Amino acid sequence: MVRNRKETTEKSKKKPGLSTQIFIALLAGALLGVVIHYWIPSSYIKDTVIVEGVLYVIGQGFIRLMQMLVVPLVFCSLVCGSMSIGDSKTLGKVGVKTIGFYLVTTALAVCIALGTALLIHPGLGLNMSAVQKADLSSTAADSSVSLVDTLLNIIPKNPIGSMANGDMLPIIVFALFVGVMLAKLGNRASVVSNFISQFNDVMMEMTMTVMKVAPVGVFCLIARTFATVGFSAFAPMLKYMGNVTLALALQCFVIYQVLLFVFTRLNPIKFVKKFLPVMGFAFSTATSNATIPMSIDTLNKKMGVSKQISSFTIPLGATINMDGTSIMQGVAVIFIAEAYGIHLTPANLATVVVTATLASIGTAGIPSVGLVTLAMVLNSVGLPTEGIALIMGIDRILDMLRTAVNITGDAVCTTIVSHQEKALNREVFNRN
Ligand code: ASP
Repeated sequence: MVRNRKETTEKSKKKPGLSTQIFIALLAGALLGVVIHYWIPSSYIKDTVIVEGVLYVIGQGFIRLMQMLVVPLVFCSLVCGSMSIGDSKTLGKVGVKTIGFYLVTTALAVCIALGTALLIHPGLGLNMSAVQKADLSSTAADSSVSLVDTLLNIIPKNPIGSMANGDMLPIIVFALFVGVMLAKLGNRASVVSNFISQFNDVMMEMTMTVMKVAPVGVFCLIARTFATVGFSAFAPMLKYMGNVTLALALQCFVIYQVLLFVFTRLNPIKFVKKFLPVMGFAFSTATSNATIPMSIDTLNKKMGVSKQISSFTIPLGATINMDGTSIMQGVAVIFIAEAYGIHLTPANLATVVVTATLASIGTAGIPSVGLVTLAMVLNSVGLPTEGIALIMGIDRILDMLRTAVNITGDAVCTTIVSHQEKALNREVFNRN
């Protein structure tokens, strides 16, 4: 027994968690990059073999692994999400209200992200075109599709074709449609719905597995970035992190709490205090899905929210409502545009609000998926998806922060809807 415990402690001592590993990889990668940039003179071995060879291949390989997940993951998690809406008896009033609330808060979150980023300019001073010259050419030209076509393109002519091309909007429409139909057919289509939910589990597990090699990927990506641009990468990245954190804090502690007070007259400070452990859990796991049971339980026992409401709205929120994620994506868009020196028009910004809101629906509640769906937001305004490489290294920390915001948004909405449906016990909420 004693030996067992010793072995376990030794084991856990030996292997730090994924977050720690990624953080160490980030620092080590930055360090190696700086050493390469400043101390190793330019040569064939340095430039071609190390920077453009090993570091580039492993880093890009990791990005491709992530890209591989996008289409099946978004499709399955959206079918499951819309299927669960259609399933529920509370669909209708509660469903519409909840979805409306989720969409509005997400759009608001993107606006806060874009607003703060346009003030802070997180990407100014970093010249990414020096890092990824080759990819710049294909950007602006691709984005010149008319608004009418953009709208029409949302409806897929051929859903399989859309999946093959990775066109996210038509995939989202098709997935929502499939989910609603599956819910309508109920038991008659149980084989298909079971298959898709199980495939969803497979994709989530695959994401977790891919994340295991994240430290190596992050190390190479960051090392190459620093090896190419040196310290000039550091300040904009800190600015970017500060920008995302500020926008997340505004959303979590100002917007949500004002909404809570206006709609329910409940004490926001009490709400935050009672919900803090759930936020802590979400922070340490970076997984909205894993917090579902804890969130429902806390809302029920500490805030007096009826489980009938929360058992529907919390899992739905964990699937489709990712305000924190959309904040990261909003700031990332400005960061990457500035780093590449690409000007975004007001129409581009409006497109970002729409696509980031939709991306939030398609983001599964597990670590790092927000980074995967960021590609769709970048594509929508013709920004190079390779820009993701730069923020990938520091994303794990922001992922933890944004997940805490993601699930807080679900809980605030649930409390408000519960209050409106007369399913909130204020006595329990006010109890200490
Ligand atoms: N980790 C986030 C969540 O689970 C999703 C993401 O932004 O990657 O809510």
